[in-house]
Amino acid sequence: MLLDMDLGVLLPSLIPSSQSVYVLVFYFVYLAVAGEILPGKVIRGVLLSDGSQLRYRCNGLLALTLLVAILGICAKLGIVSPLMVADRGLELLSATFIFCVLVTLALYVTGRNSSDKSSSLKPHVSGNLVHDWWFGIQLNPQFMSIDLKFFFVRAGMMGWLLINLSILAKSVQDGSLSQSMILYQIFCALYILDYFVHEEYMTSTWDIIAERLGFMLVFGDLLWIPFTFSIQGWWLLHNKVELTVPAIVANCLVFVIGYMVFRGANKQKHIFKKNPKTPIWGKPPVVVGGKLLASGYWGIARHCNYLGDLMLALSFSLPCGISSPVPYFYPIYLLILLIWRERRDEVRCAEKYKEIWAEYLRLVPWRILPYVY
Ligand code: NDP
Repeated sequence: MLLDMDLGVLLPSLIPSSQSVYVLVFYFVYLAVAGEILPGKVIRGVLLSDGSQLRYRCNGLLALTLLVAILGICAKLGIVSPLMVADRGLELLSATFIFCVLVTLALYVTGRNSSDKSSSLKPHVSGNLVHDWWFGIQLNPQFMSIDLKFFFVRAGMMGWLLINLSILAKSVQDGSLSQSMILYQIFCALYILDYFVHEEYMTSTWDIIAERLGFMLVFGDLLWIPFTFSIQGWWLLHNKVELTVPAIVANCLVFVIGYMVFRGANKQKHIFKKNPKTPIWGKPPVVVGGKLLASGYWGIARHCNYLGDLMLALSFSLPCGISSPVPYFYPIYLLILLIWRERRDEVRCAEKYKEIWAEYLRLVPWRILPYVY
């Protein structure tokens, strides 16, 4: 979309209208209320260094289903336009960006002034304003008892689906609905729904347990995820692709295999953390030092879950063919992010597990892709 616009059109469409602000306010208020009142499994987070554990109500799937149903009914009744997001994408993007800046400045100020000593709220101040604003000061800040980190990642993932649905409506309306668009929409919708089915797994991920809440994370969750992960959809609105049957079959295989590896690896680790004796692929697990799983996917490479995620990301772009690098933004970005993250995670694990980690490295020498990396 951006590529088709000249600056005279682009700049005005970046100025948030009052309507885009209302959309964001409605969205955040809905998520806050739904997150609090809808039923859902309450999960205890990982044990923090002071022995405390946060609680997360995992009702994202219900909140998302209800939201889509409400929006669908409102669209049918003509109260909202299903094209609202697709037509006002840039305005919403800039409104979200301004929100990210404001909210992270507020987080910076409250973090700096906090005298809380608990692991989740203890301020970590380096003294460098940009660093502290970017990386955040507190691990799990809250607003009106809402865990903001969990809230923002949920908002981002749901936002991605809502943007996609609006793009889908736009392609139906302008008569450009194609096999590529259908494939892209199905893969992303399955990925996002699966995320919410397994929302509890999120509570033990790096972002939740190790990253403080600053601009990097808030921007990543609220803007980066929904607006850049949907580039393929925006691109397909303006470009036609002819897919052959073998290409469609190959694309589906990349998705299915990627999903099995991604979900399988994350599930095995999650189950292992809950009960280290649970069999892995029908056999007793290989465990290093009583703490690290070295069988199943975790015996093939130290981050098979990243490999699966990368295959999934590729499957979201393949429907766009290979005529342009633009739709490959997401897999390329994810490759860079996950390699960087895997390096940081290795450092953290080496410090935490010491000789146990060294033994694990010996048993499982591959980082992400066996025999390659
Ligand atoms: P992981 O879920 O891989 O978590 C890493 C942590 O798991 C380590 O710090 C360690 O924590 C524990 N661990 C590592 N190895 C083992 C082992 N062998 N046995 C037991 N525990 C182990 O990483 P992430 O949180 O980064 O990723 C979670 C998922 O989210 C991945 O599938 C990833 O692809 C996806 N993701 C997607 C992104 C996107 O933009 N699409 C961005 C980032 C992640 P501990 O101290 O608890 O033992």
